Amino acid sequence: MSNCAIVGINWGDEGKGRMVDLITQDYDVVIRYQGGGNAGHTVVNEFGKFALHLLPSGIFRQGVVNILGNGVALDPESLWTEMEDVRAKGVSLTPENLKISDRASLLLPWHRELDGLEEARLKDKKYGSTKQGIAPFYSDKYQKKTIMAGELLHPEHLREHVADLLEWKNLTLQKVYGAEGYTIEQMMDWFADYGEKIKPYICNTTTLLRDAQKAGKKFLFEAQLGSLRDLDYGIYPYTTSSNAIAAYAPVGSGLPSAKIEEIVGVVKAYSTCVGEGPFTCEWFGDEAEELRKAGSEYGAKTGRPRRVGPIDLVATRYGVECQAATNIALTKMDILSYMEKIPVCTHYVLNGEQTDEFPFPVLLGDAKPVIEYVPGWKCDISGVRKWSDLPKAAQDYVLMIEKAIGCHIGYVSVGPERDSIIIR
Ligand code: GDP
Repeated sequence: MSNCAIVGINWGDEGKGRMVDLITQDYDVVIRYQGGGNAGHTVVNEFGKFALHLLPSGIFRQGVVNILGNGVALDPESLWTEMEDVRAKGVSLTPENLKISDRASLLLPWHRELDGLEEARLKDKKYGSTKQGIAPFYSDKYQKKTIMAGELLHPEHLREHVADLLEWKNLTLQKVYGAEGYTIEQMMDWFADYGEKIKPYICNTTTLLRDAQKAGKKFLFEAQLGSLRDLDYGIYPYTTSSNAIAAYAPVGSGLPSAKIEEIVGVVKAYSTCVGEGPFTCEWFGDEAEELRKAGSEYGAKTGRPRRVGPIDLVATRYGVECQAATNIALTKMDILSYMEKIPVCTHYVLNGEQTDEFPFPVLLGDAKPVIEYVPGWKCDISGVRKWSDLPKAAQDYVLMIEKAIGCHIGYVSVGPERDSIIIR
């Protein structure tokens, strides 16, 4: 079997965690390659229900090695909290099954504070940040102004490096935002606490992956957030601050030479979006509330109600292209069972003209959806496990999407549990 990436095709929350949890049984190593603790992957399995934020979704499988790659925003505080939560439910986390890249940069306390300060300054023009510090973190990483996890293994250099950063960061905190700033003692206490906690898990994951590759081990790359939130290809500036697309996986995982033969794109059977930004298919009022309730569309990290609407074939096709997906997992099909007829956004109208192209971000706000309806199936499909047992209308819905997006739909998910899946 080939290396595989599991990625989101839309705005995130498509059910990637659920698919990684299912697919990890065939892989030896699961790697998170970007993003931080700002989103949540929900996984339901024999240990219970989990909202994973930073931990790779392979941690529930025995013998699977889980890696937090150099591309992630490594927040030691939230990682440790998450590790404790997961352990409390009987999952074993050791330096054998969890490894942190020594080249992963650390998300520091001032990143989270700055995120909140900037969103407050923006007022009604805010980006809808989850205020986990991700944007300030990646800005600092690219300015070469943060600490790499591996520096915790070299404490003789740490204090001086922190002091240099502090001098610079306090200028912004105090002079731009009027905040208090940090002292070196505060920061060294923080490192002594959280730094020490994560230290046993830090290692050179590049050599580890290189050796595993030579030994014929198989890798699964796990994305956080979807194509439309990708920094370069998404709905900028309402994107995340890193590259969520599969093309970034070799870079952010620590194995730039990795070849990814299979890219599973996860698409939800309808659209959801958390936070700000243009969302062409958005529903409002009772219709929206009914779908939101049916799909329990509330953020895994923040509890925020998600914006909802019908499936958007224009955005989905674009997302599939950005990811170069080779296979699609269509999730939450069971949620649509209540609908008499199912709305589908087939095209956009922009400046009076119909288009199938996903518009440049600043024009998205002017795009109007063209909605068509297809018949619903109006029965519970959550117990279906075979394609041939799916009602004809549900099969037709899947085939219609497959044709429109130009990619095989190999998985149809009909429930959050590991085995609630139809494999085609
Ligand atoms: P992720 O970030 O892409 O992993 O997605 P989230 O975890 O934020 O959101 C997906 C939600 O849908 C979670 O609560 C999952 O348990 C749930 N889920 C995933 N697939 C299905 C499905 O096929 N049916 C139902 N009913 N729920 C699903």
